[in-house]
Amino acid sequence: MKEHILEMEQYATEHNVPIIEKKSIAFIMKYIKNNGIKNVLELGSAIGYSAILMASSSKDVFVTTIERDEMRYMECLKNVKKCEMDKKINVVCQDALELNLSEDLKYDLIFIDAAKGQYTKFFEKYKHFLTPNGTIITDNINFHGYVGESSKIESKNLRSLVGKIEDYVEFLKGNTEFDTKFYDIGDGLSVSTRKDETSHTNK
Ligand code: SAM
Repeated sequence: MKEHILEMEQYATEHNVPIIEKKSIAFIMKYIKNNGIKNVLELGSAIGYSAILMASSSKDVFVTTIERDEMRYMECLKNVKKCEMDKKINVVCQDALELNLSEDLKYDLIFIDAAKGQYTKFFEKYKHFLTPNGTIITDNINFHGYVGESSKIESKNLRSLVGKIEDYVEFLKGNTEFDTKFYDIGDGLSVSTRKDETSHTNK
């Protein structure tokens, strides 16, 4: 397993596939373990690196992960099999904004790690699939230190993308349904928990 993880890190570097930073995935794995998380939904599988590590963080956690890029989806399936995680990870090849999940499905953790310009849309769509005590974690909330500095960015495309992450941060801060904590871990993580819940603590 450790060997396969190293291979995935190498593959990601060689093929320019963005994967989560080690400190960030370590934080999420600890969160899963400490909060007794059983069902995780991940938006943005890439090659399965974070899904496999999340699934390995506790004996009874199950991960569903969604990826729209077919090549990455195939690579993800291959890695899940290699790591013998087929029974713990379900990989779906579809655009997460177009997918219609059954309303009965509920997740106690949703990890948003797909298109950064769409974070608010992902949050609004998928919050309905959270258990009452559920949490949404989002990666790249600092986006290489650009977030909060968008007005100084010259490239129009980058400025627009960073602007969307800044809007998402404001959306989370003003969201009265969720209590959001921001962490300067890796590329920045936000942890949004429903306000009325008491059982999740960030141990
Ligand atoms: N979570 C992965 C990891 O750490 O190993 C990394 C995910 S990578 C940062 C983002 C992935 O999200 C890309 O592979 C991209 O194709 C996928 N993606 C972007 N928008 C998506 C969408 N709307 N639906 C599904 N996948 C999407």
